[in-house]
Amino acid sequence: MAQYIADLTGVCGCSWGVIGSSTEEVVQKTKKHAMDVHHMQEVPAEIAQKLQKATRPAM
Ligand SMILES: [Zn+2]
Repeated sequence: MAQYIADLTGVCGCSWGVIGSSTEEVVQKTKKHAMDVHHMQEVPAEIAQKLQKATRPAM
């Protein structure tokens, strides 16, 4: 099964990666992380763009 990972270091500065079975899942998990940890009501376009670049298929 394909997995995707996004390294948050370049997204919001946190030193861990979000793993999901689809890019959509990675986005959803990162949004939740942004809300819970960074108290963002919604993910700014800049962060969303960085997340897109940081997301890659995981081995
Ligand atoms: Zn973070």
